[in-house]
Amino acid sequence: MYDVIIIGAGAAGMTAAIYTSRRMLKTLVISKDLGGQAAMASKVENYPGFIEVISGFEIMQKFNQQAQKFGVEFIFDQVKEIQFKNDIFLIKTNKENYEAKAIILAFGLTPRDLNVPGEEKFKGRGVSYCATCDSLFYKDKNVAVIGGGNAALDATLLLSKIAKKVYLIHCRGEFSGDEILIQKIKQQKNIQLILNSTIKEIKGDELVKSIIVSKINNKREEEIKVRGIFVEIGYEVKADFVKNLVDLDEKNQIIIDKNCQTSHLGIFAAGDVTDICYKQIIISAGEGAKAALSVYKYIQEKEGKKNPILDWGTTK
Ligand SMILES: Cc1cc2nc3c(=O)[nH]c(=O)nc-3n(C[C@H](O)[C@H](O)[C@H](O)COP(=O)(O)OP(=O)(O)OC[C@H]3O[C@@H](n4cnc5c(N)ncnc54)[C@H](O)[C@@H]3O)c2cc1C
Repeated sequence: MYDVIIIGAGAAGMTAAIYTSRRMLKTLVISKDLGGQAAMASKVENYPGFIEVISGFEIMQKFNQQAQKFGVEFIFDQVKEIQFKNDIFLIKTNKENYEAKAIILAFGLTPRDLNVPGEEKFKGRGVSYCATCDSLFYKDKNVAVIGGGNAALDATLLLSKIAKKVYLIHCRGEFSGDEILIQKIKQQKNIQLILNSTIKEIKGDELVKSIIVSKINNKREEEIKVRGIFVEIGYEVKADFVKNLVDLDEKNQIIIDKNCQTSHLGIFAAGDVTDICYKQIIISAGEGAKAALSVYKYIQEKEGKKNPILDWGTTK
């Protein structure tokens, strides 16, 4: 039995873990990966305390080291379901069940899927959602990037330095990303733009071999040989597994009050997964700290301790 189980090891979840473990709460973090979105940022220039440019991966390594120092337990798995019975939360993953007195939901944003045949089958076998993480696997190969915003343009430029040829496929006639990136892309000889087009199917055997691209106006289809597909069409909250427990807004974000309390007693939430409108590393970290202190207060009061000391503010 854990005092608190934190779902997600991004900036919010890791900060929450540092705070709960320093309060001697038995803490387990369950996450699909370590670092979350921040780990994909090749350069971070706005995280206070780091004057030199640092990669998001390096920042998240430091979060991890700090959490390990205070004895946080980590399990790499995906949480599928949460049940609440007899005042205890039962957290079900792909492999195991875990119990906790309180929960912090910090499962952030997940890359949006293309939802085409072949995508599920080839995830991790040619279909990627992170050019920063996976670009080096495609040295001198042909790849496709799907999307039209800054993330897609950034991924295309990065891949053009590694891959043989990059097809940038976008469903509109114009890109929505920054003009400076668009100009750089137009100057790069090994980038081919395919506009007003969508992906119909991803094909291959063990690994991706090709994609079927369809023109939106005349539905004409073309098969293009590529070994990698980078899906850069934005992020979404995948909160279906908690929708019966906590209130969500119209974007599926978890609704919280100013102390990170959700609509369900004992469940707190922090970071990009919540209806806080700003999505930044420092904000997720701060919200994670708030959620952790709220959990501490919740557990102390549940155990009959009146007016627990929370931080400097409460001792004034
Ligand atoms: C490419 C990129 C560059 C960025 N650059 C910057 C920047 O320079 N500066 C800045 O301040 N912000 C930047 N951001 C935004 C910033 O990274 C995020 O706002 C912040 O990291 C969100 O942290 P989080 O902990 O709330 O969520 P996330 O980072 O999304 O973490 C969520 C965690 O939950 C896990 N998870 C999800 N579902 C489940 C589940 N069902 N079970 C178990 N685990 C689950 C995920 O694997 C992940 O570890 C960038 C984002 C991206 C994508």
